[in-house]
Amino acid sequence: GESLLQVTDLTKHFPIRRGLLQRQVGAVQAVDGLTFNVARGETLSLVGESGCGKTTTGRMLTRLLEPTAGTILLEGHDITHWSTGKLRPLRRDVQMIFQDPYGSLNPRHTVGTIVGAPYHLQGIKTERGVKREVQDLLQLVGLNPEHYNRYPHEFSGGQRQRIGIARSLALKPKLIIADEPVSALDVSIQAQVINLLEDLQDELGLTYVVIAHDLSVVRHMSDRVAVMYLGNLVELADRDDLYTRPMHPYTTALMSAVPIPDTERRSKRERIRLQGDVPSPVNPPPACRFHTRCWKAQEICRTEKPPLAELAPRHLVACHFPENADMPGSSDPAALQ
Ligand code: SF4
Repeated sequence: GESLLQVTDLTKHFPIRRGLLQRQVGAVQAVDGLTFNVARGETLSLVGESGCGKTTTGRMLTRLLEPTAGTILLEGHDITHWSTGKLRPLRRDVQMIFQDPYGSLNPRHTVGTIVGAPYHLQGIKTERGVKREVQDLLQLVGLNPEHYNRYPHEFSGGQRQRIGIARSLALKPKLIIADEPVSALDVSIQAQVINLLEDLQDELGLTYVVIAHDLSVVRHMSDRVAVMYLGNLVELADRDDLYTRPMHPYTTALMSAVPIPDTERRSKRERIRLQGDVPSPVNPPPACRFHTRCWKAQEICRTEKPPLAELAPRHLVACHFPENADMPGSSDPAALQ
């Protein structure tokens, strides 16, 4: 489909300063040269362990953080930098749903105030108009509109996430960045919230970027999945293709930790234990950043950065020695046998 969001070489380095003169002695390379696009109406998931840069990416997309380099285009408009005056109206177009619905809702404010705040901030509505809009939104996300005057603690975790979702919808955004939208919720509630997000997407034509640490949570709702490691994109593919034939060794390792309902495949898949922790992003390993933990690493992995290349249709991988490269894709019937 048509691209709603286009991200090119997106980079965020946090300088590390020391001493009285606060001289820069290094940088945390949180995100380094990320390129991807998101089609209108699509759900793209960004997956990786903590420290991979997925949350920093989400914060740059919602402009809670300003990038060090690279560009972010929304419907072709450059929204990379905050200073540009033209940015203001575009600010509404990208909204965020947070992981911890309780922590992100002010406990002293009523639901009406919380969900209505975006309208007031933008100065767009009368008091009465806002109330009506908020009540419509509460209904849309499956909450009782009569609970307008209640406080966050009067709601369950799942309901609080619905409040967060209602707030994110107040300004009719085009793109929603959902940072671990269900990981703080009971497993029994997770499916309900995912279903709600999917229904809202269909109804309102929303586009989602979902941030997650685990491949199993996003399997159902993603159209495409991007796997990140230490600030780099290592694999990006259509959902079914990624889950049937992960090609980057890091993805296969993440995948082996996920219960896959396909028993045939599970029996063939051995659990891969990654050695050690994710290295520090302060001085990330050169060339392939995964080489310190990769069981397939060769000399070239330490000296040449593998480019993100299309190794199968719509399947991008950054690895010198990809896995499953000769395996049929998900569109090939042989893959299902
Ligand atoms: Fe492993 Fe080398 Fe591929 Fe990096 S490039 S993932 S070290 S095989």
